[in-house]
This record gives sequence, structure tokens and C-alpha cells, in this order.
Amino acid sequence: MSLPGQLNIPNRLLLGPGPSDAHPRVLAAMANPLLGHLDPAYLEIMNETAAMLREAFQTKNPLTFPISATGMAGMETCLVNLLEAGDKVIICQAGFFSLRMVEVATRCGAEVTTITKPWGQVFELSEIREALQRIRPKALGIVQAETSTGSWQPIEELGKLCHEFDCLLVVDAVTALGCIPVKVDEWEIDAIYSCSQKGLSCPPGLAPVSFSPRAEATISKRKTKVQSWYLDMTLLKQYWGAERAYHHTAPISMTYALREGLKIVLEEGLENRWARHLKNHTALKAGLIALGLHYTAQDGHQLPQLNAVRIPDGVDDMATRKKLLMEFGIEVGGGLGDFKGKVWRIGLMGYNSKSSSVFTVLAALEQCLR
Ligand code: PLP
Repeated sequence: MSLPGQLNIPNRLLLGPGPSDAHPRVLAAMANPLLGHLDPAYLEIMNETAAMLREAFQTKNPLTFPISATGMAGMETCLVNLLEAGDKVIICQAGFFSLRMVEVATRCGAEVTTITKPWGQVFELSEIREALQRIRPKALGIVQAETSTGSWQPIEELGKLCHEFDCLLVVDAVTALGCIPVKVDEWEIDAIYSCSQKGLSCPPGLAPVSFSPRAEATISKRKTKVQSWYLDMTLLKQYWGAERAYHHTAPISMTYALREGLKIVLEEGLENRWARHLKNHTALKAGLIALGLHYTAQDGHQLPQLNAVRIPDGVDDMATRKKLLMEFGIEVGGGLGDFKGKVWRIGLMGYNSKSSSVFTVLAALEQCLR
């Protein structure tokens, strides 16, 4: 075969639903030499990473660390460890990723009930209370930041409500962490998962998870083994905990990346980071509205880090996104599922949430919509 030429990555500004651009310090951290996955120096890096992850999740949960895979593996880890065949579970469904939760919970053999809202709208606590009363599930799953619709669900009081019914709260924070408040202990979340490639400005490849003591106790009372060997928290915690028992070869460079990404988050400060995302979103939103675009998410619940807007009538989705990419080097996302061909998703996540991103994408979009 003739070998391809030198790797030549085009210049891009990743303003889609993720991955967002990795912070240059993260990329530099990844260029460090490898260590063995049981080397004391690497074990120290794991400890530092887990400690910073607890800070980012605002939790003291001992069972907090990244799974060696992407956000979907975080979802599977939470559901596959908590659910056994025949368990009842409620999934709050208002977008594409909640449908994934339904699929994964069903594959665990759980008896899944969905409560639904039109895409982009949020659940009232009273609606969830009614479902909990009716179903009495073991767990309830909700997507905090729904990347397909650009909306955030109010979940501050949800853990308390679930615990009234002896139900575990499982939260998808894949698009939330590092962008908007995620307060695991204060909000009484039992199992939560995220990703590395959005608000934490790392490459894709790790899925931070955290389990509350209540969730840990549920896992320890399982009647059956966790169906997935790779994602079994009882095995994984022997590697991340004091035993340091070999489970799989950790993705060393990705741990360097996450450590650096989290350090950057905590250096900035969580409150400052959330405020920065809000400020840049407000500027982008003013510009998008001035261009005649309308948000898909309910007012007051639009995600600062993911701006989903309806594609104006008569505008070609693919041609516009192609022009943005090829002429301006900007990637924005198209719609998923029901929103395919109808919606653009403009991300301002982590490192990319800055004025220059706002002005660059608005100027380019204006050219494309002329
Ligand atoms: N959940 C949400 C809300 C997401 O936005 C995504 C990905 O965009 C996922 C889950 C799946 O994550 P990944 O693509 O990293 O596996």
C-alpha cells in the first residue's frame, strides 16, 4: 500500500455539541511520557485526579473516578451497576439522550416507565412526584443538560423527592459538568456521569462518575453480578481504591489530560466558570436573535453552553454547516433524532466559552444566512 502523507489537521473551531477544543495546557499535559499504570507516580496522579473530580462534582463521595471510555460508558456504568432484571425505573424523557437511558435500562432487564415532555421543555416536580407515587421505582433517571434540545432540567430538589420514595436519582451531566452548577451532595444525587470532551476541555475518552453511599450500598446488596465486567464498580474501585488491583490498563495520557483539565477548572473557580459561560451565552443569544433565529428550549431553561436554534425556513442545513466548516473553519452541530434537519446546536463549552468564539461564529453565520 502507499502510505498516507504526514498527519495534517485542518484548523477548526469546535463550536458544536462536543468535542469542544481541548485547552492547550491539556494537550501539552498529554505529550508527557507514559508511566506504568501501577507506577507510584501514576497512582498519585490518579489520586489527585479523583480528588479534583470530587471538587468539580461538589461531592465527598469516595466512589468518584473516571471510567476509561466516553460519556455513554458513564451512562451504562450508572445503570448497569444499580439495576437488576425486573427492577422498576422511571426515565424522564424530553430529548435524544433520555431515549438512550431508556435503551440502556431496558438492556439491563429493568422494567422501564417513561414520563415525557415535548423536546426542549422541563418537568415540574409535581409531575415527577405523581410518577414516583404510582410506580415506586428503584431509580429515576434524568438528563440535566439535554444536548439535543439545549435545555436544562431543574434538579435541585429532585434527590430529596426521590429519597422520600426510597428511589435513587441518576443524573446525566455529560454536557453540564464544568459549564453549569452540578452539586452532587447538596442535590442528593445518587449516581452521576459526565464526559471529558465538553465542559472540561479534554479530548473524548473518559467518563467521570460518582456514586453516593446510598448507591454504593445498593450495589453491595445486589443479588446478581453486574452484567458488565468492564464497568463493574465493585471491581473498578479495587483499582482506584487502596488495593490497586489490576483491572484494565488505564489510558495514562487521558488521565494526564483530565488532571490538567480539572486543575484549570478549579484554578478558575466553579462559580467564575459558571458566570463566564452565562456571560458568553447572553452575548451569543443576543446576536442569534438579531439574526432572526429562535431557541428550541423553553425560556429560562436554555443551556449557556449549548445553544440550540431552529434553522430558518428555506435555509439548507447541510450546505450552511458545510460552508461554516470549509470557509470559516467552524464546526457547529446539526439536529439529532426528531430535530434532525431542523436545529443547529452551537456550543460554547469550557475553553471555547469566550468572546472571540461568540464574535467569530456570529460573523460567519451572518455571512452564511445572507
Ligand atoms: N449524554 C448526553 C447528554 C450527551 O450529550 C452525550 C454526548 O454528546 C452522551 C450522553 C454520550 O456521550 P459520548 O458521546 O461521550 O459517549
